[in-house]
Amino acid sequence: MATRFLLAFAICRLIVTVGLTLDPTELLRLEVEGVLSVEPADLGAASRDFGGMQNAEPLAVLHPGSAEDVARLIKAAYESGQGFTVSARGHGHSIKGQATTANGVVVQMSGSTKVAPPRVSEKFMYVDVWGGELWVDVLSSTLKYGLAPKSWTDYLYLSVGGTLSNAGISGQAFNHGPQISNIYELDVVTGKGELLTCTPKQNSELYHAVLGGLGQFGIITRARIALEKAPHRVRWIRVLYSNFSAFTQDQEYLISLHGQPATKKFDYVEGFVIVDEGLINNWRSSFFSPGNPVKISSLNADGGVLYCLEITKNYQESNSNAIDEEVGALLKKLNFIPSSEFTTDLPYVDFLDRVHKAELKLRSKNLWDVPHPWLNLFVPKSRIGDFDKGVFKGILGNKTSGPILIYPMNKKKWVAKSSTVTPDEDIFYLVAFLRSALDNGDETRTLNHLTNQNNRILRFCSDAGIKAKQYLPHYTTQQQWMDHFGDKWTLFSKRKLEFDPKNILATGQRIFTPFFNPSAPLL
Ligand code: FAD
Repeated sequence: MATRFLLAFAICRLIVTVGLTLDPTELLRLEVEGVLSVEPADLGAASRDFGGMQNAEPLAVLHPGSAEDVARLIKAAYESGQGFTVSARGHGHSIKGQATTANGVVVQMSGSTKVAPPRVSEKFMYVDVWGGELWVDVLSSTLKYGLAPKSWTDYLYLSVGGTLSNAGISGQAFNHGPQISNIYELDVVTGKGELLTCTPKQNSELYHAVLGGLGQFGIITRARIALEKAPHRVRWIRVLYSNFSAFTQDQEYLISLHGQPATKKFDYVEGFVIVDEGLINNWRSSFFSPGNPVKISSLNADGGVLYCLEITKNYQESNSNAIDEEVGALLKKLNFIPSSEFTTDLPYVDFLDRVHKAELKLRSKNLWDVPHPWLNLFVPKSRIGDFDKGVFKGILGNKTSGPILIYPMNKKKWVAKSSTVTPDEDIFYLVAFLRSALDNGDETRTLNHLTNQNNRILRFCSDAGIKAKQYLPHYTTQQQWMDHFGDKWTLFSKRKLEFDPKNILATGQRIFTPFFNPSAPLL
């Protein structure tokens, strides 16, 4: 009762102060199993994200108790006379407000205690999970059965619905495809408030639309994720290169082994670029022993830049005798700098959860909740050498402000009908600039400097005719979105019309303007 009163009060106050068009009774009539909150702490949390650069306060936050709660809310928005927007928020790890919605309702998908826990089928090797489940919790539930998902992100405190709305990539993608290629079935609440089950065969248009769909077509309330036998341990190896083409040739060779038996390929292929003079440790690579620091200058880096290949081999404890030989045979084929090999061995879970350790370290130094002007690009293989010359050895100017990941993927492992956009070549690279902005007196660490540098990188690609595509994309005009989707735009907008005809969902992506507010700018 008190919550209803608070909700009514908050909505009326907002109508008076900012002139909302929402009829408060539309939200007040909503019967939910979870909680519809207007607590300032909830509104504040839902208005921010990991990027720390945007703020958009919603009118209310729904902590759903079930998929039906999500359906009731969206149906209310869809049938409402005056209309309101609805955005799913996974764990809020977007960079530019993609999961926010000003003056609408945020559905806080992760952290819900009332929804069903993950349910594993050992027989069919899958797990059914709530759309807001964090991948770290998916892992712990499947490990009880000795099973684990096949395809990962580097960081596990992301929600299933959030990564599936983009793609979900890591070093396993060359082999298994991104996370969206490893989903058997979904439950989705569309922009009309219908709760539908979809698979590659049943409601297949919706299934493909939501995978990589940036939240535009529906809210994923359940995902059925493919599993494999979980390895016990991981041999984790890093080797260095000073020559970019030797580095990319080796990466491309390693991902070409995807069809080989497990003993003849690595399980994970990533890499990163080291442009900073000095220690090559950073939050993403606290791997080289601090007691044995590596200096770029000692390794004859070409143009001041080094490249680190990062590979792993999973194994069962019962197979530990064979692992040295298998790894040795694979390493022999590579052309890294002799004596630049760093190896460690650890439990599979610790490897998967590696970034969380770095997070805890950064949090303890108050360096986690800083602005993150990240830029993620898919660069076609044919132009990665030009990208190296123009960006790593050019625009960056020996300053990183965070890890720079680089690794190739096989396009054939991506579901072509999904909404994700990738370059038009069989092999493309992820290049991820994972920057943290600081206000510590160093101009090159400021948000302004890093944002300008991102813009220079994008301009460089455009001027050089490098047909890169943004991953976790951010644009501010519909024309830019049309350019991003290219040939896929017609299908993307047709799907939007079919599944969210009033443009209610995920307005924080700034792709479509809500039907009931056509004059609102996309910004
Ligand atoms: P949110 O940011 O909350 O949401 C993202 C978008 O998805 C929004 O538009 C939202 O409306 C929509 N959405 C959320 N839940 C649902 C749902 N249930 N149904 C429909 N739409 C929904 N990505 C990778 O691919 N690989 C990585 O290795 C990787 N590492 C990362 C490491 C860190 C430290 C961080 C901060 C991010 C990383 N990411 C990585 C990016 C991550 O995949 C995106 O931030 C993604 O948005 C997931 O975050 P989230 O669950 O918090 O979703």
